[in-house]
Amino acid sequence: MAIFRAMIARKFSSATVRSLRVCVVGSGPAGFYTAEKMLKAHEGAEVDIIDRLPTPFGLVRSGVAPDHPETKIVTNQFSRVARNERCSFFGNVTLGSSISLYELRQIYNVVVLAYGAESDRVLGIPGEELNGVHSAREFVWWYNGHPDFSKLTPDLKSTDTAIVLGQGNVALDVARILLKPPTELAVTDIASHALAALKTSSIRKVYLVGRRGPVQAACTAKELREILAIKDLYVNIKETDLLTTSEEEEEMKNNRIRRRVFELLSKASSSAAPHPSSGQRELHFTFFRKPDKFLESDDRSGHVAGLQFEKTTLQGRDGSGNQIAAGTGQHEDLKCGLVLKSIGYTSIPVEDLPFNFPKGTVPNTEGRVLSSDFAKPDYGLYVCGWLKRGPTGIIATNLYDAEETVASISEDLEKGKLTSASIKPGREGLLQLLERRKVQVVTFSDWEKIDSEEKRLGSLKGKPREKLTTWKDLLEVTTK
Ligand code: NAP
Repeated sequence: MAIFRAMIARKFSSATVRSLRVCVVGSGPAGFYTAEKMLKAHEGAEVDIIDRLPTPFGLVRSGVAPDHPETKIVTNQFSRVARNERCSFFGNVTLGSSISLYELRQIYNVVVLAYGAESDRVLGIPGEELNGVHSAREFVWWYNGHPDFSKLTPDLKSTDTAIVLGQGNVALDVARILLKPPTELAVTDIASHALAALKTSSIRKVYLVGRRGPVQAACTAKELREILAIKDLYVNIKETDLLTTSEEEEEMKNNRIRRRVFELLSKASSSAAPHPSSGQRELHFTFFRKPDKFLESDDRSGHVAGLQFEKTTLQGRDGSGNQIAAGTGQHEDLKCGLVLKSIGYTSIPVEDLPFNFPKGTVPNTEGRVLSSDFAKPDYGLYVCGWLKRGPTGIIATNLYDAEETVASISEDLEKGKLTSASIKPGREGLLQLLERRKVQVVTFSDWEKIDSEEKRLGSLKGKPREKLTTWKDLLEVTTK
């Protein structure tokens, strides 16, 4: 295997004695920040980043909206990390099938799991499996050209109404993509299949539905301002939903983001036109509605035709001090032909990994994974990012998260908690095993071929890049 020989040559030509073999699983922000911090903190560390996709950067490539190019600039920093001579990227390597966690831990002194949250929370209500109901993650992966969802074909043509469940920033992203003029998306790196579908979309009306009120809306001000600023958009927010209790006033006093979001919603409500003009796209913020069941279409068997909601009121607080949406027993139906559930992501465990199912995270203290009885650290195994703390925060949150995890690793090294380096083969061991299993490893220079090809294809269309959206196309380019 050519990569293997090249890697070994590179290793032995290096003057640095490398004694600490580190594997980071996942090449999103949490993975790259961890690698960067590890390389800085330990001159003797050799860091390999593996990812199940042939492309690096995780959520920056597959999650960040195409009309947010400024957020993607961080990939320049991550690329510098990947080009560090003590760092390697190996894509198309799946933890759990290409290699097990047990095997990784035999090969490396330190394994840091940073593979994020690749699944969705579920509502667990009737009709969730109907056609036309998608998770926001699937929709986001579709418009971002993720190779697992390029064939999604959400039906944007048989209906004029979409319901988005949840009012976090992901909900705002998907609503904005549905409502924004496609001409504005045409100059972004949106997948071409998604742009084509959005150009012929008949969706004019989007309901953003929250189970709580405008004071509790989970989005942030910048993202809210952006959706409210969509050209020629009719915005509807009921004035009665904006009446606040003294408890909510207190909540806003203590939380600047909540107050700013509430002020923006209030302003949008008071400055809105009384009715939409003909053909105008509409955005309806609907508060205090808890999804009860999905309604099936009478004409199209197996297809969603709407949702039944239960009206809610705020009552009591949960363990984290958040006000709870309690059902009132009153119901209301809302018709639609497309539903995007944007109620949060969740992580998936792998074999031999302790997992807290209700939280969807790996039990840990400051990034040290706890043993299966959650009692003490399982030294050598660490976690970072959404898998560690749950699906919250912006990209930079992972920087602090990585700092904490790397500090724990450093402390464990100092205290002699990690196994001797001499018995860990590291990179050679990984590549030998992958070669035996005939895994087509994608290196960072292979990724650079994909990157160049996508940029070339994009330049022909006035886009920053035209993403390759199938496994076949992505892997084929790397062999050229
Ligand atoms: P999120 O911010 O946690 O929002 C989840 C939403 O789903 C909330 O409105 C929540 O309502 C609702 N929800 C949860 N369970 C529900 C249920 N059973 N029934 C009805 N509604 C339910 O999650 P997200 O939007 O997926 O975003 C994930 C993270 O990525 C966030 O930290 C976000 O800020 C970040 N992000 C940032 C950007 C950006 O900076 N531009 C873009 C995208 C994502 P409750 O509040 O009532 O639970």
